[in-house]
Amino acid sequence: MRALEVCNLSYRYPDGTQALKHVNLSVKEGKKTAILGPNGSGKSTLFYHLNGIILPQKGKIIVKGREITKKNVYYVRTTVGLVFQDPDDQLFAPTVWDDLAFGPNNLGLSGDEVAARVEGVLSMLGIEEFRDRNPDNLSGGEKKKVAIAGVLAMNPEILVFDEPTSGLDPKSTSEMIELMDELASDGRTVIISTHNVDIASSWADYIYILRKGEIYAEGEPESVFSKDDLLKKTNLTAPVVVRTHREFEAHNIYKKQDKVPLTILDLVENLNGSKKQKRGMIRVIQIPGMKDGGVSAVDLDELKSVLEITPDKTGAMGTSAKECAKRLGIVCDFERDVVDTSISEAMRGIDVLIFASGGMADIVVERARKKGIRCGNAAFEASKHLAKRNGDVVN
Ligand code: ADP
Repeated sequence: MRALEVCNLSYRYPDGTQALKHVNLSVKEGKKTAILGPNGSGKSTLFYHLNGIILPQKGKIIVKGREITKKNVYYVRTTVGLVFQDPDDQLFAPTVWDDLAFGPNNLGLSGDEVAARVEGVLSMLGIEEFRDRNPDNLSGGEKKKVAIAGVLAMNPEILVFDEPTSGLDPKSTSEMIELMDELASDGRTVIISTHNVDIASSWADYIYILRKGEIYAEGEPESVFSKDDLLKKTNLTAPVVVRTHREFEAHNIYKKQDKVPLTILDLVENLNGSKKQKRGMIRVIQIPGMKDGGVSAVDLDELKSVLEITPDKTGAMGTSAKECAKRLGIVCDFERDVVDTSISEAMRGIDVLIFASGGMADIVVERARKKGIRCGNAAFEASKHLAKRNGDVVN
């Protein structure tokens, strides 16, 4: 089933501004979709439609098979969570706790259930220490996290982020991207709007380019960004990686390639060509994601045996994985851009151990194997190692 469909949607503001014209989108369940467009192209107006803040003047929006109407706005609001571009539009309560409890309280949950939801999202976003603070007194990045936590407390299946990385510093930007990956790997459908081509190209499974309220192009990032003349007609430039790649081709640094690279790692791979190098291995240890109990569902003593396999470097991705590494006293070598960093290390012969939350473990393995890197299950290896040490028979 499609998570969300927008059919022939048009919208004109009362002052006569035509913000959307015949927009069509079809978003697959569990996929990461980016709506890319310059300022004023209609991204926010489109997003206000996706959770029923604005009802269609023309056309329709279908959420999980049900058309949005005046009568089912409640269903839509609990299924589609919209994180506003400006957190000040979303936060209103005197404390962070009250803000996060507001939505779950409105769902009619019991006091204990509300508290559990609030605690869950505080820990997921790593913002426990803000619980008694007044949202007005937080920094822009901190407010953004609280606004996201408020939406996640409603546990919506579809998450819509309007310009999630705008105004964030590089560290917070990577954290935000990792969070969106984590939510998607938990099986949620994540849709973002952005004018940042570098983020859209490296993060999304599917991209729509919006221009003057119309869908101007759509496709998988590789196909969208391989058409140079297409981007010229928008106010967007090609991603830095694609521009570097074009320069490398033009200067004969390497031969013309069939595919455009979307990440620095792809570019490095092109540069290395068929150069044979000793490769390292990536061992992954999967920690249950938040919805499966997080670190509390892990036997930390048992996990210590994993540390007897000594990798060259260690990384952690996702909330519960980072928490787990911390509780085991491990100082990780990398906690950002973990997938590409560990593949890059392995390409240079370095063995890596990664703690990965929930479905993020699959993302690492899938991407590493595509790049020809050997992957292993660290827990399985550790149990064999222990059994051998104890003199048990190992098959
Ligand atoms: P984006 O999010 O891509 O920057 P918007 O959806 O905010 O784009 O805006 C799309 C168009 O609608 C722009 O031309 C903008 O000026 C106009 N617009 C946005 N909000 C209003 C409003 N409340 N009244 C009139 N025009 C508006």
